[in-house]
Amino acid sequence: MRLAIQAVFLLATLMWLVAAQADFYAVLGLKKGASDKDIKKAYRTLSKKYHPDKNPGNEEAHQTFIEIGEAYEVLSDEEKRGKYDKFGHEGLKNGGGGGTNPFDLFAQFFGGGGGGQRRGVPKGPNTETHIDVSMKRMFKGFDMDLQVNLQGICSSCKGSGSADGVNHKCDGCDGSGVVIQVAQMGMMIQKFQQQCPKCQGKGHLISNPCNKCGGQKVQREDRKYNVYIEPGTPRVHSYSFEEEADKSPDHVAGDLIVQVREAPTENMGYRRRRNDLFRTEALSLKEALHGGWTRKIPFLDEESEVVLSRKKGEPTQHGHIEVIKNHGMPQMGVDDSHGDLYIKYVIVMPMGASSKVRDEL
Ligand SMILES: [Zn+2]
Ligand SMILES: [Zn+2]
Repeated sequence: MRLAIQAVFLLATLMWLVAAQADFYAVLGLKKGASDKDIKKAYRTLSKKYHPDKNPGNEEAHQTFIEIGEAYEVLSDEEKRGKYDKFGHEGLKNGGGGGTNPFDLFAQFFGGGGGGQRRGVPKGPNTETHIDVSMKRMFKGFDMDLQVNLQGICSSCKGSGSADGVNHKCDGCDGSGVVIQVAQMGMMIQKFQQQCPKCQGKGHLISNPCNKCGGQKVQREDRKYNVYIEPGTPRVHSYSFEEEADKSPDHVAGDLIVQVREAPTENMGYRRRRNDLFRTEALSLKEALHGGWTRKIPFLDEESEVVLSRKKGEPTQHGHIEVIKNHGMPQMGVDDSHGDLYIKYVIVMPMGASSKVRDEL
């Protein structure tokens, strides 16, 4: 009897444990059947948000970060995801998920590698660059290859600065980087430490400098990146490439920030505020008073036209705003959702026209 009670208790505990493991989709804020793109996107956002570096001392965030890693590891792997979809956590028991260190996973995803092992090495400054993109390209979205000229580690000496790869100990300071200066001022003798002038405090000298970089350890180089500009990308939007800034052997590279800005040209007469588009259409006084006109205006998709018209006898007020619903910029990341298009009519008065013209109106 007692054994039976224990067994029931054990079973209940096991069931609780199974129930306690959160659903991987829910962890990433997704529904079953989410696309690979959604999974990547969710991981990108959440893993950054809950990374322990951003939440120092917050144990709960740390736990969440680990769970996000586990969920992503399974859902980003076709085979593991298939098993998980069919059998749930049970399906992953043999050779299942949770094998990869969540920090390594994070480093793999965001590139740059290294993860934890380079902690403590100072991170260099970020490098920022910007690119102007026309509104019509932001409307349609496109894949953009870009080339950025950045500082890299010299490929010839691998950042040592030395042609023979050897750094010689500085004889000015015996490798310590500092020298003791003695100054006598009257009766007083003062000793003070100074940075070694011969090696600038480095403690070593390059007797045979690399002939590619002249001992500078670094070189300029063109690097290629790819950015996907989503339809409806905001007017100013930044993309970050981790540890891809100017490189130096003395520090971990900072991030390369590519800022995409809406160019002032090629907007085809449209203006934009968030996802809404604005445009001014001029009417003659005659058109405003009597109607009976049609305008066909090229649209940002470069395929369709915005058709505006008034029947004969249909007047238009100066300053009237016509709203064309769902004909603005696409909403980034949301399919088939657009802002609105606002057309403002202005009436061009026939200034200086003769009284004859005015009588005709
Ligand atoms: Zn070199
Ligand atoms: Zn020295």
